[in-house]
Amino acid sequence: MFERFSEGLAALTREHRRRHRRIVQSSQQPHLTVDGVAKLSFCSNDYLGLAAHPALAAAACEALSASGLGTGASHLVSGHHLWHERLEEALASWLGRPCLTFATGYTASVGIIPALVDRADAIFMDKLNHASLNDGCLLSRASTHRFRHNDTEHLRQLLEKSDARQKLIVVDGIFSMDGDMTPLPAILALAEAFDAWIYLDDAHGIGVLGEQGRGTASHFGLHNHPRLIQLVTFGKAAGSQGAAVCAEPVVIDWLMHHARSHIFTTAAPALLAASLCASIDIMQQADDRRAHLQALIARWQEGSRGLPWAALPSQTPIQGLVIGSNEDTLALANALWQDGIWVPAIRPPTVPEGTARLRISLSASHTLADVDELLVSLTRIAQSHPTQASMA
Ligand SMILES: *Cc1c(COP(=O)(O)O)cnc(C)c1O
Repeated sequence: MFERFSEGLAALTREHRRRHRRIVQSSQQPHLTVDGVAKLSFCSNDYLGLAAHPALAAAACEALSASGLGTGASHLVSGHHLWHERLEEALASWLGRPCLTFATGYTASVGIIPALVDRADAIFMDKLNHASLNDGCLLSRASTHRFRHNDTEHLRQLLEKSDARQKLIVVDGIFSMDGDMTPLPAILALAEAFDAWIYLDDAHGIGVLGEQGRGTASHFGLHNHPRLIQLVTFGKAAGSQGAAVCAEPVVIDWLMHHARSHIFTTAAPALLAASLCASIDIMQQADDRRAHLQALIARWQEGSRGLPWAALPSQTPIQGLVIGSNEDTLALANALWQDGIWVPAIRPPTVPEGTARLRISLSASHTLADVDELLVSLTRIAQSHPTQASMA
């Protein structure tokens, strides 16, 4: 085993795929301290700038002193605290349907999908779906059909061929590495035509898109369609930790009795639920933050046109700059780092071979000047490393 692992790790090094964790020594915000130095960061999914918000920390501290840290058991035994109940109420009043909470988005999907479908059923999933969805589908043992990214004609063909008992379409609302949205109106029309259901992973859409930040479906005017099962996560725009699924009452009731990652795990500390209640209050009223985020996105989209690399046409806080090879992408990320800017190099297997990229994540706590600083630095690097730029 040791030999196989050592060889595998050596291969990662050769392929420039070895990962390295940097150590953040301040709170999560654009100007932070990492590995002992000050950097301007475009790495965080803290889209609304709430991760370091004092109201979230205050709510957490208050709940911690009043309720202690441990919850002692799972929700169904004795771990369901008043703060968890308040959180589910706040979510239901914001999102308009009952909700069930989970410790993280990853554990939510690996518990929910197998509870929704089993081996008699079929799953139809976008090829660029998040890893947690792939894993949830595998665990469900339903037959799985992958359709080309955002290709609804391909999806239609697969649905047409299926005679499964129940059909579940599984998609991201906003795709993690490209920043584009799922074509939800067309997918919902197919779900109605073929009597299918939709599991929408809205990890990146919640708080960012739609009326009061209700997410991708709201953006398309389809909020709370009965065929939609919406997963929202709280590690990104909500600035905290956790996840919830929002669906018709019978679905939520079923999931409470069948989603194994809800049942067989200790409830999260009440302080997280308390911080989320504060976060939901802010997210609902954060139109100013969402408008500023759109201004930052427009600034990057406009400014990146002059660069010798391909900026993906995204209208969301996830902005990709496709470089191509792993080596060039790492070199560019290192050059930015030398310039005081932290941007992650995203490489296979996270993205397809040959499409390694910088992923620029924008947050409402960035300023327009921060985006300009990134653009100026990239322009300077492109000019001083012509071979790198010509790779694009
Ligand atoms: C981040 C992310 C998750 C995982 O959520 P966590 O709460 O971080 O576990 C799931 N799906 C998508 C699309 C994500 O981007």
